[in-house]
Amino acid sequence: MNMNLGCLLLSLIGLVNLALGSPGDWLDEFIDCRESCEIIRSCSDPSTDAPDHHNGFDLSYFDETPVFLRKCLLWDCESDCDYQCQQIVTILRIENGEEIYQFHGKWPFKRMFGIQELYSTLFSIANFVPHYRGFKILRSELKKLSHYDKSGILLDKYVYVSIAGMLAWTASSIFHLRDFIVTEKLDYFFAGATVLSGFHAIFIRIFRLDKHDNLRHLFCGTVILIFLMHILRLYLDWSYTYNMRFNVAFGVLQYLLLLTLSYRNYVHLKSQPKSRSSPYASQAQMTWQLCTVPLLLVVGTSLAMSCELFDFFSYTWQIDSHAIWHACTILPSWKLYDFFIRDYRYLKHRCNSLAE
Ligand SMILES: [Zn+2]
Repeated sequence: MNMNLGCLLLSLIGLVNLALGSPGDWLDEFIDCRESCEIIRSCSDPSTDAPDHHNGFDLSYFDETPVFLRKCLLWDCESDCDYQCQQIVTILRIENGEEIYQFHGKWPFKRMFGIQELYSTLFSIANFVPHYRGFKILRSELKKLSHYDKSGILLDKYVYVSIAGMLAWTASSIFHLRDFIVTEKLDYFFAGATVLSGFHAIFIRIFRLDKHDNLRHLFCGTVILIFLMHILRLYLDWSYTYNMRFNVAFGVLQYLLLLTLSYRNYVHLKSQPKSRSSPYASQAQMTWQLCTVPLLLVVGTSLAMSCELFDFFSYTWQIDSHAIWHACTILPSWKLYDFFIRDYRYLKHRCNSLAE
């Protein structure tokens, strides 16, 4: 299940901002402040003269960029002036009781410990953990199988989901730590990879392509081709709208597949005599794990994603709706892998019962 759709939804919300610029970008005081900062700090050419007009920031004091930020996180003089002026203007607006504005499509976060968006970064790192755990438990489940057990194909596909998840959340952590064009694009590319890997794995599970080698290879090849074409399309002509549509389309397909799986498990469980459903858990437990959990995953992540639509930001707490969305996806990712494993074991139990 794609937990990174939130980033993409944010990009859709930010689309208008990118086309028109954020309201903060066009504030006179912000433009004046940046101009003064760049002159006072001699950002470009040390011999540049002061402008012939005066603005309220001529005598302001601007900090020098700390060495660590300059060398390790590549904050140059201009980007640091931009940052300092966002802070100065925002504090002035708060003091005057005015609305807080976004700059360049983002809220004016304070750098903390050198991190551009502290909470989004921390929650992105936290989101890495369930995918890493998923990777470990899937690998140990695979190790229990004999080499000839073809049911391992399904587990292999889930392993790819966990790898894509780990890559995506690493990219997201880096992007929220320091926002560059390249870190932003990596975040989007890997988000695309997670959506496709989830779609691919659940599709194979539902249509039991693990039992049909040729069809599966054809399907895998098609998905890889779709991803390569997607990357090529973005490389040739970067488009936020297209990227958003692509990810939402496959994200929604993935949710529909998961709901289908939940329903099919429900129908199957109901059709079974109670004693045959599983030797390990009661029917109620099985219904919860195999039907209700995937349903809650879809409903929960969709609801959490909708919190992005409110685009909330607190300067005091330095948190926004995007960070809260990232916090909301940790538990569902954790539960997703538990579901994959339980569904896999149930499927295997069903196949073994039929074989007996
Ligand atoms: Zn994000």
